[in-house]
Amino acid sequence: MTTTRFAPSPTGYIHVGNLRTALMNYLIARKAGGTFILRIDDTDPERSKEEYVDAIKQDLEWLGLHWDRVERQSTRLDRYADAADRLRDMGRFYEAFESPTELDLKRKKQLNMGKPPVYDRAALQLSEDEKSALRAERGAGVWRFKLDHERIEWADGILGDISIDAASVSDPVLIRGDGQVLYTLASVVDDTEMGVTDVVRGSDHVTNTATQIQIMSALGQDHPRFAHHSLLTGPQGEALSKRLGTLALRDLREQGVQPMALLSQMARLGSSDPVDLRNEMAELIDGFDITRFGAAPTKFDEQDLFPLTAHYLQRLPLADVKDTVSTLGVPDEIAEAFWLMARDNISTLGDLDRWWSLCRDGAEPLIDDEDRDFIAQALAMLPDGPFDGDTWSNWTSAVKDATGRKGKKLFMPLRKALTGQERGPEMAALMPLLQTLPKV
Ligand code: GLU
Repeated sequence: MTTTRFAPSPTGYIHVGNLRTALMNYLIARKAGGTFILRIDDTDPERSKEEYVDAIKQDLEWLGLHWDRVERQSTRLDRYADAADRLRDMGRFYEAFESPTELDLKRKKQLNMGKPPVYDRAALQLSEDEKSALRAERGAGVWRFKLDHERIEWADGILGDISIDAASVSDPVLIRGDGQVLYTLASVVDDTEMGVTDVVRGSDHVTNTATQIQIMSALGQDHPRFAHHSLLTGPQGEALSKRLGTLALRDLREQGVQPMALLSQMARLGSSDPVDLRNEMAELIDGFDITRFGAAPTKFDEQDLFPLTAHYLQRLPLADVKDTVSTLGVPDEIAEAFWLMARDNISTLGDLDRWWSLCRDGAEPLIDDEDRDFIAQALAMLPDGPFDGDTWSNWTSAVKDATGRKGKKLFMPLRKALTGQERGPEMAALMPLLQTLPKV
């Protein structure tokens, strides 16, 4: 039974980078008819905030990434303590007392000597008396997992065969001096106890994966299948990490990006398939194949979300946007006609307001000097309302006969006078919706 999880730490809003992880895990579970767990990694009581837990849930719900159940690490501390005891009993856990400054110094020295900055295991040499003395002086130490110095190998779902020399990795700290269990251990315990079969996460976790595979095997467990997706960069390949704060899902939602636009982009970006708009989650699930994704950094441009959003909206029937349209104040009788007129001329639903103001209040006309007399003459010939679908063609034929103008010279000045702009909806569709004519 396929089980995946999305495991955010509730220390901030989730952004496009997190979404990639969430979506891939979601699609794998749904495609296999399996389980998708939302796991809240809240072992850090200072940085974890309830408001972010709520925000994460809202953002996932907005996108339609529904989870089968929620797990919270803060409720499972006894399970982690249990695993820590077992590792201690096996002799795979040791206490170390170096301060961050001492560790930093060690790293610098190693680097100066051209060596990799790997923890030197000095703490393994401490006698019980020395440890007691250090404990008395500095408080409890951190607990490190003693890696077996062998190669750690796995077949990565995206990166292919990976082999990491454990000797090139520092023994990971799994428990802090204040007793706080760190993610590396908590995640291992959860993934095994919750039967997680597939873990997709960012390639910044590759080294973690190596150490987690060894911890799992020390605990007598097989590891799940791992896949590490590449990190997102900006459109020029620049690091996105600093900008991720402004690419929170709620900011994109605020800007009018539609869920299916974002999901369609994220389900394909970085894969060998082109990004194209899908209207339903089911299509994304069907078409998802993790083996299509590559290891190269993936360029992301949020501007691409707007044409996709526009494209999505163009296909929607009124029923899907009824609330938005009626909130604008569009009367029910013309709501459908208004939507069909406007949907091809918006990039987000936020643009609807502009078209409704134009219909309701009339436009500020745009009239070139050489067209002034022509417009006055044409407007005088405008039939009394109410206008219908034929008004535009009947009126413009009559104006053509009366003035001799035709083609662009006939239509463009009329459009500009009635809408205040050179481009926009079909005039035949717009005319019946005009509640107010321009004040010329
Ligand atoms: N809480 C971890 C993170 O947000 C989860 C990583 C994982 O998927 O294992 O980075």
